[in-house]
Amino acid sequence: MKVETYIQSLFTPDDKEYGHITNKMIEIGMPTISVSPETGKLLTLLVKMSGAKKMLEIGALGGYSGICLLRGNEEGSLTSLELEEIYAKVAKKHIEEAGFNGRVEMKTGPALQSLKELEKENTEFDFFFIDADKENYVHYLDLCIKLSKPGSIITADNTLWSGEVLNEATTDKDTRALQAYNQKVAEDPRLESLLIPIGDGLTIARVK
Ligand code: SAH
Ligand code: MG
Repeated sequence: MKVETYIQSLFTPDDKEYGHITNKMIEIGMPTISVSPETGKLLTLLVKMSGAKKMLEIGALGGYSGICLLRGNEEGSLTSLELEEIYAKVAKKHIEEAGFNGRVEMKTGPALQSLKELEKENTEFDFFFIDADKENYVHYLDLCIKLSKPGSIITADNTLWSGEVLNEATTDKDTRALQAYNQKVAEDPRLESLLIPIGDGLTIARVK
């Protein structure tokens, strides 16, 4: 048995929302690239353990990761940034159907723009989840740090990129971007960080 299957069968055997959302996304022709249920559970646990209340995600897709974040705090709220108007609508619907009515605010359009607007409003968040276009990950990191406070958590998905990040000679743009992200998170003096090999890799960091 694969390690992944072992972990899934013990710790995330039956995530109904994951199944429901995946089926809906297939039905309407969306890509099925939500976080894995294990990554989702880790997000929930990280929110619970840190006591984070104000959460921000970059890349909503069908709403599954947003649900995992909101599961972590009964009093939590989520701001979710999504490029595609249609995906934002689908995500909002799924998040509300999951029982988190009134606790999510969607912001559509390029996330870089939305983040700059949030910066102007002087908004602060205590939990960040980066999971959109890989080429902008390093820029998202800088903007998230600006919107953070000491103790805030910054997480990012797909940071193993199916193991491709090990390929130092790669010329693939997304792979290069994820390598650059991991290196930046690892070396940034403002952060303490680690890459956790769960799902497709989740890099986690705490703002000093
Ligand atoms: N976090 C989701 C999966 C996100 S998939 C989950 O695990 O459930 C990546 C998402 O990022 C897609 O929905 C895509 O439309 C969005 N995206 C891509 N480029 C973006 C950009 N520049 N700004 C905001 N969202 C973007
Ligand atoms: Mg992802």
